[in-house]
Amino acid sequence: MDVEEKINKFKEIVENSDNIVFFGGAGVSTESGIPDFRSKDGLYNQKYDYPPETILSHTFFVNNTKEFYKFYKDKLNAIKYEPNITHIKLAELEKQGKLKAVVTQNIDGLHQKAGSKIVYELHGSIYRNYCTKCKKFYGPEIIFGENTSDIPMCEDCGGLIKPDVVLYEEGLDDDTVRGAINAIANADTLIVAGTSLTVYPASGLIRYFRGNNLILINRDSTPYDNMASLVINESLR
Ligand SMILES: [Zn+2]
Repeated sequence: MDVEEKINKFKEIVENSDNIVFFGGAGVSTESGIPDFRSKDGLYNQKYDYPPETILSHTFFVNNTKEFYKFYKDKLNAIKYEPNITHIKLAELEKQGKLKAVVTQNIDGLHQKAGSKIVYELHGSIYRNYCTKCKKFYGPEIIFGENTSDIPMCEDCGGLIKPDVVLYEEGLDDDTVRGAINAIANADTLIVAGTSLTVYPASGLIRYFRGNNLILINRDSTPYDNMASLVINESLR
């Protein structure tokens, strides 16, 4: 099948399905201009003494909070970015009743910004922050706003504020995982895009799919290509 035939088949599957779930990785966000902080472009190493995986770990957050927030504000501030065509189309499909849920590994909140309602954010969101002591909720401005302190503290109790983002060494939120599994297990069509499916939890969650059409859209091939009804090796446009 050439690309045009594949796109026609994609449209046909979407047309005929009313229980679609979308599973997206970093590739969904990069089309909005958001760099993938996991990509090994050496950019981070020039400015920081540690690799991103170290800085974005629970241990580092606890022991080097100021350095953590320096990196976090510098590299993970996605609030200025806008949804791209993928986010917008998915929100439309949900409105039409065809798409039941988005499961995402991204923390930039762009699906909600595009209008999606049911979004399982496996790795949390930069839009939510909590006091580690009293659990008071804070929006993104407490961290990304102007004149914020190096280490954000709770205005009520003085506790340290932590982003609701899953750091390395931390487990995923049970309710979010359960919701994602439930949506995937009940879907008729699963579209997986912008992820190589090699990293947990992506690889594990796909196994719950029992529906008819597995569609994989990724620049590179994935370990699940032979299980898919349609594989499109392109970046998202
Ligand atoms: Zn507090």
